[in-house]
Amino acid sequence: MAKNLYESLGVSKTASQDEIKKAFRKLAIKHHPDKVAKDADAATQKHNEDKFKEMNEAYTVLMDEEKRRQYDAYGTYDNNAQQPDMSSMFADMFGGGTPDMGFFSMGGHPDQTFKMFFGGGGQHTGPQQPSQDVIEVKVSMTEIFKGVTKKVEFDIVDRCSGCQGTGAKGPGDVITCLTCHGQGSVPQQVGPFMINQNCPSCNGRGQVVKQHRQCAVCNGERARFVKRSFDIRIPQGVPHKHMHRMEAKGSFDIRKNCYNDMVLVFSHDIPEQYTIDYSRNNVHMTIDVKLEELLCGFVKEVDIYGEPLNLHSKGYFDPSKDIVVRNKGFPYYKRKDHGDLVIKCNILFPEREEKFSKYHSIFMTMFKVAAVEAPPDAVCVN
Ligand SMILES: [Zn+2]
Ligand SMILES: [Zn+2]
Repeated sequence: MAKNLYESLGVSKTASQDEIKKAFRKLAIKHHPDKVAKDADAATQKHNEDKFKEMNEAYTVLMDEEKRRQYDAYGTYDNNAQQPDMSSMFADMFGGGTPDMGFFSMGGHPDQTFKMFFGGGGQHTGPQQPSQDVIEVKVSMTEIFKGVTKKVEFDIVDRCSGCQGTGAKGPGDVITCLTCHGQGSVPQQVGPFMINQNCPSCNGRGQVVKQHRQCAVCNGERARFVKRSFDIRIPQGVPHKHMHRMEAKGSFDIRKNCYNDMVLVFSHDIPEQYTIDYSRNNVHMTIDVKLEELLCGFVKEVDIYGEPLNLHSKGYFDPSKDIVVRNKGFPYYKRKDHGDLVIKCNILFPEREEKFSKYHSIFMTMFKVAAVEAPPDAVCVN
């Protein structure tokens, strides 16, 4: 591979597994087939496909501790080792999400993503992933403060309406798989053992579609990405990473013949001028205060979460102390009260010319100080 695996995912050599997962998810969305215009030229589509393969390969190696060690030590890895198991990879990333797993995207190459729903590719040992789509919904400060209902749109996988999920033109076009005789698996010698592998001809379904009789709508894929929009209620003060489950509103699972649950994970989208202390629901921000304002008082209109708030100082105050506005911080979930707004002052000192021409004499008078006498060997700082 021409490219360094870390570069492929845009992460550093010391990246944690979480960082690698995050970087992969970001790329998976970027190279989502829907993001490439349908009429994009072949070169663009090819580039997207190559990029997707490259990031899959990097992800598979770097998420495997043994392979990553080998790669770090020798710069190589076992390329013949199994291909990325996309079904478990996507199920892992997007299927059984926990709040910390972050978000869901129906990203990736359709063929590969579909396997997740149809159970093709890779062996599924152990318990199945819970059937749920986990989707991140970003919520703004204003939405968190007011509580709103908003429309959001997701891509989900739905059963193809052209063939009702059979993948064939007509009911007679689905036949028993000749490779596995409908079993869905074939025995294979692995060392001294015989184990049952997913049948490669039918991907474990036991049935295949007759040649040239694929459904024209989905090309035999049996499912399609569709856009669904939902009106979602964002409760006031909704906590960061709060989860909301909507039963049977997710993607269609053809194997189980039912719709997955959709799990929304509300994620706070906080502008950079604010930081939140979630332990007290306090909102921290900084304002600029000129030296003369600090000394002589001011009225300042500051913008808090899209609403104006007037701050008034009658005279000198100690800038090392924060200004605390009670009950103007983050709203508590399912309560009426808020945390506090905590404002730090950033003192702006006057420019040099101003200092001498204007403020110097004012301050001299104000503080009743005499001109400074310095010893002849003192170093002058201005
Ligand atoms: Zn179809
Ligand atoms: Zn088969």
